[in-house]
Parts: sequence; C-alpha cells; structure tokens
Amino acid sequence: MLLAVACPGCGRVGSAPCERCLAQLRPAAEIPTPVGMVGCRALLAYEGPARDLVARIKFRNQRAVLGWLAQAMSPLWCPSSVDVVTWAPTIPAHRRSRGFDHAELLARRVARQGGVACVSLLARRPGPAQIGLDRDSRSHGPAFVARRDLTGASVLLVDDVVTTGSTMAAAAQVLVGAGAARVVGLAAAYSR
Ligand SMILES: [Zn+2]
Repeated sequence: MLLAVACPGCGRVGSAPCERCLAQLRPAAEIPTPVGMVGCRALLAYEGPARDLVARIKFRNQRAVLGWLAQAMSPLWCPSSVDVVTWAPTIPAHRRSRGFDHAELLARRVARQGGVACVSLLARRPGPAQIGLDRDSRSHGPAFVARRDLTGASVLLVDDVVTTGSTMAAAAQVLVGAGAARVVGLAAAYSR
C-alpha cells in the first residue's frame, strides 16, 4: 500500500517531490573550492522549487524532505573517503527559535546514508551577530572553534545552501587547524 505524501516543493499530495517539481530541479553549478577544502559540491541550483525544498528543512515535521535530499546528495560523495561527517552550527538564536539545527539534521541524514559517524566538531565562537558588521567583516564568515583534536581525519562538512562559500571556508580552516588532513564540502543547494 502506498502512503500519501506531500511534495516538499509545492505541497501537492502524491510523490515527494512531485513530477512537476522534479522536472524543474536543476543540478548545481560547479562550486569554486572554498579555502581549506579539497572540494565542495552541491546537489541543486538554488532556484525555483529547489528554494522551497531547501527552505522546508528549517521547519519541523519535514522528514520526507531531509530523507529525499540526503539520498539524492549521496552519489555526490564517497563514504569510504570520509572518517566523519559534521556541520557548521547555525547561530544560537536560530537554534533557540526552531529548537533544532537544520544543518545538523541534514548532516545526520547524509552520514546515515553512507554509514559514517556524524559528530559535532564545531562550536560557534561567541561574538557579535553578523548583522551590524561591515561588509569586510561579514565576508570573513562566522567564527568557529574546533571541539576536539582531528589529527589525520578526513571530514565531510554538510550545509544546506552554499552562497559565497565563506561559511564553508571558515569552518574548513578551523577543522584543518585542528589537524584534519582533508575537508570536503557537501550542500543541498548552491546559489551563485
Ligand atoms: Zn511539487
């Protein structure tokens, strides 16, 4: 028996995503490798129904979207080349208001897909919010600190959307600083 599911793109009941939304999804363009990484890939171009699809992981009860994204993202990475999966934590205010970190949920699904451990390796350094900083300070991305020694580790960093790549770069540089031998990035979507 088939269960009725709502399309994560448009909400129509049928399949997830529905054929109409699926037909409108485009693969992401190549991402210029962020500093500190050996490569970074994304599944979808951040446009059309992909925007709704990715936005839905920020809300509760959207397990179908997470599952679909994680499964579709899995061919983009090679689990055997990764020791651990992690994520760049969202700002505490977002985590507080939503009660969860959507980047963490996505990372956990992706890790499960490949049978690799998902571990919290990064913490946000307390500091001023991004709002109010000048363009130059903002472009350096949020400041993270490593939670443990990562000597020799190969790390996959998962995020929802890559835009400038500054968050990926900031996180990757901290992971490398903690000893990581190799950091690769994986996102649900890339917005150029
Ligand atoms: Zn749809």
